[in-house]
Amino acid sequence: MIRNKHLAKCISDQGWHKFSKMLEYNLQPRNAELIEIGRFEPSSKMCSRCGNIKHDLKPSERTYHCDKCGPTINRDLNAAINIRNIRLIKVAQDMQEFPPVEIATSGLSPKEGG
Ligand SMILES: [Zn+2]
Repeated sequence: MIRNKHLAKCISDQGWHKFSKMLEYNLQPRNAELIEIGRFEPSSKMCSRCGNIKHDLKPSERTYHCDKCGPTINRDLNAAINIRNIRLIKVAQDMQEFPPVEIATSGLSPKEGG
């Protein structure tokens, strides 16, 4: 089945889906959130400080050094910061899309007996 390209992709997608569901389940008691980002987001190749993208970053390079702004940082930490930033941008965009509802306070009477 794995030799069939389309079927292999479907199976690997199902595996990923199950894995992310297991992660979500295990994060719930910790009151933590699973952050999923787009497959092609440059989380490892982007500088978490200035946004510069290093297109030639090899998988074997375990540190990220930004040629533009200078810092050297652990590659996984850099990617984690980028993932958090991508999530924060998404939250900010959602908040603009759905602004908080104004609560009308005039005309409401306090609860009786309370
Ligand atoms: Zn930089």
